[in-house]
Amino acid sequence: MAAGPDLRLIQPGGPEEACGIFGVYGHPEAARLTYYGLYALQHRGQESAGITVCQGGALVNHRGMGLVSEVFTGERLAALPGDRAIGHVRYSTSGSSTLVNAQPLLVRTKWGQLALGHNGNLTNALEIRCRLEEQGSIFQTTVDSEVIAHLIARAETATVEAAIEDSLREIKGAFSLVMLTPTALVAARDPLGIRPLVLGRFGEAYVVASETCALDTIGATFLRELAPGEMVIIDRDGLRARQFARRRREALCIFEFIYFARPDSNLRGVNVHLVRKELGRILARRYPVAADVVTGVPDSSISAATGYAEESGIPYQMGLIKNRYIGRTFIQPTQELRAQGVRLKLNPIRQVIEGKRIVLVDDSIVRGTTSRHLIKLLREAGAREVHVRISSAPYRFPCYYGIDTPNSGELIAANRTTAEICQLIGADSLAYLSLADMVRATGSAAAEGYCVACFTGQYAVAPEDSGTDRPGAAAAGAAARG
Ligand code: 5GP
Ligand code: SF4
Ligand code: MG
Repeated sequence: MAAGPDLRLIQPGGPEEACGIFGVYGHPEAARLTYYGLYALQHRGQESAGITVCQGGALVNHRGMGLVSEVFTGERLAALPGDRAIGHVRYSTSGSSTLVNAQPLLVRTKWGQLALGHNGNLTNALEIRCRLEEQGSIFQTTVDSEVIAHLIARAETATVEAAIEDSLREIKGAFSLVMLTPTALVAARDPLGIRPLVLGRFGEAYVVASETCALDTIGATFLRELAPGEMVIIDRDGLRARQFARRRREALCIFEFIYFARPDSNLRGVNVHLVRKELGRILARRYPVAADVVTGVPDSSISAATGYAEESGIPYQMGLIKNRYIGRTFIQPTQELRAQGVRLKLNPIRQVIEGKRIVLVDDSIVRGTTSRHLIKLLREAGAREVHVRISSAPYRFPCYYGIDTPNSGELIAANRTTAEICQLIGADSLAYLSLADMVRATGSAAAEGYCVACFTGQYAVAPEDSGTDRPGAAAAGAAARG
């Protein structure tokens, strides 16, 4: 095989992004529970879905492209009997969207089979992959998660659990993981706790999930969050927990509160909807404006918009309606039809908008495409003024921990003032929250416990080989992004 890896195949900051993971041990309908769990986590990834079950000591996998409801039918689920399972939904807006990159990954090791589902992004995946390929490893996919499987397979330890623990110490960056072996369900969270992961109980069974909304959906009770650097092993002897890494500081992605998590989930015991409402309230106090209607961009900004409305006294109205039923098999319109006005995703309610001064609340501006498009839509529907209020700080730096954001060159706020951005998106006024206000809304006194790197450029884990902006990796990154 070739000496070095094909750098173009690796997707730095690419497609293995803010995914959703789920696992259950000790329930006769494990696959079905996993299906419902993934359904509740669908907002974390719509590109592919997969479930691995353990049937009489053998792991069986089913994965497919698209929404959970597109990948799994009743028949498929019935063909996945077993009392333990893991599942994954994958998010991607760029990079290679192929079945081979769907998860859970299923590999055969000297300890038997191993299945793995990963949420996050490893910052030293390329380095490890280069090393392993030089030593003869053959990789099957282009996702960074595969290096974890290789590390486990090659570890010279007495047990698979020790191999997993050793491997967790080698990888860097963001990872919330679920793994299934023929005997155990293993879950782990990176030493900074960048991505969320919670533990619950469903009767006698144990459940792990990216968010508490998945526990609620199946009727499980919340036990606790996994600690940063913690690994839990669940097998027929029950649950054992241990720290594979020392706990130093935490760095939960603050965007989980702002955009990623579902409003009915709790993070660190705090409800996401209420935090978003508070973000909106603070926005209203700091950046008031004379207006007739407050509206939010569905779905992620509705909570913040209602907070803005309550605090300002300006009525909240549903000004934009989103069609939520666009799956993978949906036939996209041609460019011609688009130009003729075919609008599938968001449609304004003219009777709410016409002749009005609108406050448009959104959670974030990344490239600026969404804002520009929505402001145009609102004006076409007769809005007199459009004042944009953003419930986060200016997004200036790329994320290396598992969110598909572009190079800093494509980030509209990277090198622009708020006034310049306002003009570019065509708003009458624009205001962002400060980082301090964002943190305050989560109920914390200081930003210490959060990753806020996309606002400050200060990365908790060095970007290393992960990013397209890494000095010296520009060529590889650009190629990978395509
Ligand atoms: P833009 O069009 O400015 O690039 O994207 C901003 C919009 O995309 C926001 O409305 C936000 O809700 C949504 N969005 C989708 N994916 C992401 C993501 O990964 N991060 C952030 N911050 N916003 C995202
Ligand atoms: Fe979250 Fe931003 Fe940190 Fe990425 S850089 S993990 S989006 S806070
Ligand atoms: Mg949005």
